[in-house]
Amino acid sequence: MTLMKSWVESANATDHPFPLNNLPYGVYSTTDAEARCGVAIGDMILDMQAAEEEGLIVLAEDPLFDVPYWNDLMEQGPAVWAALRARLIAILQEGAEERAAVEPLLVSMADAEMHLPIVVSEYTDFYAGRHHATNVGTMFRGAENALPPNWLHIPIGYNGRASSVIVSGTPVRRPWGQLKSPDHDLPAFLPCRRFDLELEMGAIVGMASEGPITVQEADDAIFGYVLLNDWSARDIQAWEYQPLGPFQAKATATSISPWIVTRAALDPFRCDTPEREFELLDHLKDCGPMLFDIDLSVDLAPEGGPATIIARTNYREMYYSSAQQLAHHSTSGCPMNVADLLGSGTISGAEKDSRGSLLELSWGGKEPITLDSGQQRSFLEDGDTLTLRGHAQGDGYRIGFGDCTGTILPALENPYAR
Ligand code: MN
Repeated sequence: MTLMKSWVESANATDHPFPLNNLPYGVYSTTDAEARCGVAIGDMILDMQAAEEEGLIVLAEDPLFDVPYWNDLMEQGPAVWAALRARLIAILQEGAEERAAVEPLLVSMADAEMHLPIVVSEYTDFYAGRHHATNVGTMFRGAENALPPNWLHIPIGYNGRASSVIVSGTPVRRPWGQLKSPDHDLPAFLPCRRFDLELEMGAIVGMASEGPITVQEADDAIFGYVLLNDWSARDIQAWEYQPLGPFQAKATATSISPWIVTRAALDPFRCDTPEREFELLDHLKDCGPMLFDIDLSVDLAPEGGPATIIARTNYREMYYSSAQQLAHHSTSGCPMNVADLLGSGTISGAEKDSRGSLLELSWGGKEPITLDSGQQRSFLEDGDTLTLRGHAQGDGYRIGFGDCTGTILPALENPYAR
């Protein structure tokens, strides 16, 4: 696959995140327009509400883009998803006869404020990166018990909170919680002292299911992917997680990048999961390449200081694909809904500088990292800004994800001291 040329000139740069090959879906507003669906093309956004009103995009009898979310489009199913992509390519490609009608419906991305692209139905987060699970398990339980015995057989997850999902750019307040220092006998209620990021991908389920589905059906049901930062309060987590897993440690916020990169745009970058240590049971077996070759990085900028890249990794590092996670999620009969969000689990590589959390990068605070500013970090400090980035590299083009960023605000006064 090579670059598909658009009459929107900025989309033709070889390193632009949003060429015609990509066409990611978001929701934006401007000073002149209330929040609405838009498609990124180069430095511009196509106003989908206007495109539908003008008759340039007609996919169903009733309007799909008179609402500020992509749920209604997803509800239409894969045939309509494909029809939309084909139509967008037709009207935005070089030489398109619709150019004169479409051009007035483009707004500059620089003038747009981004919002959550979907109304998140439910949110589940997994723990499916082997390097991450091994690192965290070693720190929490020792090297002998690093990977729990189930880990190589099922993608482990927990049910998170859809209400806590926020769009990139939204600040994140340091939480309070119950935590217990190793040198104290009893817990205390304090502001989190070990606030952390988790570099993840989020898969957005586009088709509902009632009961068990296969890995192939699950792959077909995934609408697209976003970058996801699963903010994590490590000291709260360490105290609360046994035996039912994380709870308040993960409930403060989960940030996602504003643009949904469709599965169709990522198809050329499919790759296999790693070699299996144990053969997976039939219902979880790989049935084709279902991971994607996506370069990922995280940078950290202290307040008023320069950003330092603290980790580089790749989505290939996952042990389980999102399709396997979705299939596993459905095995119990659990109904899955349109706009369910599945976090991949932290994506860490084998190398020290490819670890997707500060917990791993600083090895539980024992080995602080040094930023370009000279400051050291074991965990996040107030005023720090974290930015996740990602792109798949094609032949002369890129499929980019919008940045996923967030700044840490100081904890409030003790919310119970009144
Ligand atoms: Mn996570």
